[in-house]
Amino acid sequence: MADESPRDVGVYVHVPFCERVCPYCDFAVVAAPDLSAEREARYVEGLLAELAARAPDFEGRSLASLYLGGGTPSLLTAESVARLVAAVRGAFGEPERSAQAPEITLEVNPSTVERERLPAFAQAGVNRLSVGVQSFDDDTLKRLGRAHRAEEAHATLAAARAARSAGIDAISVDLIFAAPGQGPAQLEADLQQLVDFAPEHVSAYALTVEEGTPFALAERRGQLAMPDEDDAASMMILLRRGLEAAGLPAYEISNYARPGFEAAHNRRYWQRRPVLGLGVSAWSTEVPGDTSPFGVRIHNERDVEPWRTRVMAGEPAPAEAREVLSQEVARGEAAFLALRTTAGLDSAAFEREFGAPPRGFWGSAIDEFCRAGLLREGAGGDLRLSERGVLLADPVFAAFVAPAGP
Ligand code: SF4
Repeated sequence: MADESPRDVGVYVHVPFCERVCPYCDFAVVAAPDLSAEREARYVEGLLAELAARAPDFEGRSLASLYLGGGTPSLLTAESVARLVAAVRGAFGEPERSAQAPEITLEVNPSTVERERLPAFAQAGVNRLSVGVQSFDDDTLKRLGRAHRAEEAHATLAAARAARSAGIDAISVDLIFAAPGQGPAQLEADLQQLVDFAPEHVSAYALTVEEGTPFALAERRGQLAMPDEDDAASMMILLRRGLEAAGLPAYEISNYARPGFEAAHNRRYWQRRPVLGLGVSAWSTEVPGDTSPFGVRIHNERDVEPWRTRVMAGEPAPAEAREVLSQEVARGEAAFLALRTTAGLDSAAFEREFGAPPRGFWGSAIDEFCRAGLLREGAGGDLRLSERGVLLADPVFAAFVAPAGP
């Protein structure tokens, strides 16, 4: 397992409700256009019961971050968010130095109801908003099947900015690129509007068509005009250069931040630090133990009712998957997750954990990717993706997570 100091924990809370289900989405979500108070209360009670049952597994750890994601957690009332924030903060100690106050993020979609709640969310303890803008172009939003339009995105960003006085320290904006019908010129217009808003953080993901979604069906029928690989690569370069020029350099393959505003919670996943996941389909990364020196990963069941029945009875949530990580799996993940970041893979730290430097496991793959100009190797064996490697990262990652050769 990665370096265990400081002894802290991140908490992820999954809220599955969305105004409607977007046709590209494969998260655990349910359409709840008019989320009733009763349905909301039942779900929140389940989360609180699961927290009470699971927090002892992370005993003695301080809370580094809380991330309320989904789904659309901003469909919850401020009272529900306040209950959740208070319960999570109460379940763990807080870091001693105030400079390390926990990062508490709430994902927000642009809609009138959620916009009006932003100051109350801040008063509930939320100090970071992640706004699901996705695009500032109405045609692109329509093709993505999103419920909002550009005007609402702008209004929500303005409300988020106004909520700074209530305690919001950072605003992150989510963008999708390489969307159906989108080309570099349209993305450039999105980028300009994004830069004009000047967020502290941006997450930008190329759209991927996931099996089982309406988009996958439309693609099979030839009804989805996806950009070709060259256009998708041009868009990624455009984003990286444009955001860097605006003072938000990439610090991970899909994430950009003003220095000092990198997402503490997301970093936990790339650094393989313990995370307690609550709610349907949430992932947990457990603290390593005597029988699991590389930790355990648990993926909660996706359906609300079986999950709720079990957690309300004080039992562990039903797991869709539970994996005691082997050293082989852990070292592959350590390599590929570190390579996602611009800091790259620290060879000495890797050797301390796994007994040999990366070359000891993947020497020929490293040579091959360095020759191809996808990887750069430092004098001490540190590795990072080259600019070209960022565009062609999948085969590099695959080589590290595949079983090591004899
Ligand atoms: S709003 Fe986000 S989580 Fe909800 S359906 Fe759309 S993509 Fe999925």
